[in-house]
Amino acid sequence: MKRIVTVLLIVVSWIGSVAQPVEVGLFQDHMVRAAVVYCSSGHYQLLLDGEVVLRPEEGDILYLTLEDGKIKVLDAEHDFGYVSHIMLRSLSAESVFRVRSISPETDSRIYDDNLVVTPGDRYMTLVNQVDMDKYLAGVVEAESGPNAEKEFYKAQSVLCRTYALRQMERHGSEGFSLCDGAHCQTYRGKSTRNPEILEAIVETSFIVLADYNFKLITAAYHANSGGQTQRAADVWISDMSYLQSVVDPYSLHQSHAKWQDTISFKAWKAYLLKNGMKSVTRIPDEIIYVEQMNRKKYFILDKDSIKMAKIREDWGFKSAFFNMFPDGDSVLVWGKGFGHGIGMSQEGAMKMARDGFNYQDILQFYFHEVRLMDYRDLPDSSLPEAVLDF
Ligand SMILES: [Zn+2]
Repeated sequence: MKRIVTVLLIVVSWIGSVAQPVEVGLFQDHMVRAAVVYCSSGHYQLLLDGEVVLRPEEGDILYLTLEDGKIKVLDAEHDFGYVSHIMLRSLSAESVFRVRSISPETDSRIYDDNLVVTPGDRYMTLVNQVDMDKYLAGVVEAESGPNAEKEFYKAQSVLCRTYALRQMERHGSEGFSLCDGAHCQTYRGKSTRNPEILEAIVETSFIVLADYNFKLITAAYHANSGGQTQRAADVWISDMSYLQSVVDPYSLHQSHAKWQDTISFKAWKAYLLKNGMKSVTRIPDEIIYVEQMNRKKYFILDKDSIKMAKIREDWGFKSAFFNMFPDGDSVLVWGKGFGHGIGMSQEGAMKMARDGFNYQDILQFYFHEVRLMDYRDLPDSSLPEAVLDF
């Protein structure tokens, strides 16, 4: 009896500490029809349609298969039949499980806390109910890699937290809050490669970036600015006061500072004509090349224009910050930076951290007139409803 009470207390206190986990849709790009779940460590309960049926041990494996709108559940010893709701509930802070989709085949990933699986008509929905800090550590690792300075990770943590809170209702109709793809910030499961990432999350707990009207900002970031960030209004439809162009010497001489490509002149000319630039037929060939000393919003020829961001997208260039040079039948494209160029340059921020700047300096450098503040101090009207429960 005493043991049961102790276990209950552990369960109640642990569930209490993740009372409002983030709900993240896993393998969202894959349409999973069959999956394997490994209980890697810690203590779990398996609930099928709300009933506890098993306390899986470390090393136990569950097989889940979608059949006729239900999920068939098996382990090595039991056939649990067909169910509509599966929950692997963590009973300890260190519980970790691993998931791999077997139809279609994917890599396997490890996760903290709980897993909920529900059937759909064509695929099952896998949701990781995970403590916010652990989720953010996984995102920061996936979005920026394992080998940077702590102050960089703190800046990145504030951006990832701000982004996540702002998007919290994006997938509400699908049964979770955020997906694990680039759409809602990449999340590949538990952060395992650098303990400083979780420390950075904890040391910036609750801190977000807000604008001067106390609204969460669009927390944009990219790999490398090429030496100048892009004004948001040059790429996106709306202007944002805090996303202005900044001259960024910290991004120069970093690994993604430069790139090169070669395209055919004939294809380039045809592209311009197809996009409404009628004057290419009468303008001398020598001048139908993009030139950018500083980032431009448009490539302009005569009275016609094309957005630089569109050219980047259409040609698959690494950035919209590039110059072109004629080379026989070809066009050499010499580019700077990697990504959309808006907000924080990750490689620039890493350089700033190595140079001794702290995370506040880094964020104030890349974002214009923003407030670093505890999101619990923001007015309720500035936060999505889902965040108010946290
Ligand atoms: Zn998403």
